[in-house]
Amino acid sequence: MRKYLIAGNWKMHDAPEGAFDPSSPYHTHASVDVVVFPTYLDLQSCIDSKILCGPQHGHTEAHGAHTGDVSLSMCKKRGCLYALCGHSDRRAEHKETSEEVAAQVVAALECGLHPIVCIGETLEQKNAGETEKVLKEMIAPLPTESKITIAYEPVWAISRGDPNTPAATPEDAQTLHALIRSLLPEDRREQTRILYGGSMKPENAEKLLSQPDIDGGLIGGASLKPDAFAQIVAVASNLSK
Ligand code: PEP
Repeated sequence: MRKYLIAGNWKMHDAPEGAFDPSSPYHTHASVDVVVFPTYLDLQSCIDSKILCGPQHGHTEAHGAHTGDVSLSMCKKRGCLYALCGHSDRRAEHKETSEEVAAQVVAALECGLHPIVCIGETLEQKNAGETEKVLKEMIAPLPTESKITIAYEPVWAISRGDPNTPAATPEDAQTLHALIRSLLPEDRREQTRILYGGSMKPENAEKLLSQPDIDGGLIGGASLKPDAFAQIVAVASNLSK
């Protein structure tokens, strides 16, 4: 059985109040893996508080003349265990291609970070009936024979601060998670965790997380609210029993 992984993407926000307290919900659990992706500025506080964490993006080279960048290997040396790769914000705002995302995934693996790689279609692509094609194109360059985690995040379902954004229905998400799983090499298919991301919150977490191919969540908005995040982790924990 795959262990649930609940990841919080804090994006370009300050760490939530009390995040580094020993009793905060951002600490990992025996029954659920909990990971957060803060800004670079809060990575060290997570590490010092023994919160599993990683960068939201990292440079593929270890060092060099790359002003403004931080490398994946530097993050690993500081104590990060995970790396977020290919979030749709980065694909849209920084024009990261699927090949560049795959290079980050490879660099993360090489320096010992566990990559969580985001894939998902935009509303235009969904409306044009291109979801399957887009997912296949995003998966094709990834080193899926390695131990990675995939986060299926339909871009149209990401809240971007709007709490009324609809999540994918559990049935639609399940169908696409099953498709993604079918695209993985046979010997990695059952072990690879596929997270759902896009307006997951306490109200819809149980229905989404109880789908057979949904192995956790990548949570944006609700991860900034410790109570809401704690409720989602509790749902995953209860479903693990
Ligand atoms: C995200 O940005 O990865 C995300 C899933 O955000 P939200 O949960 O707010 O939709």
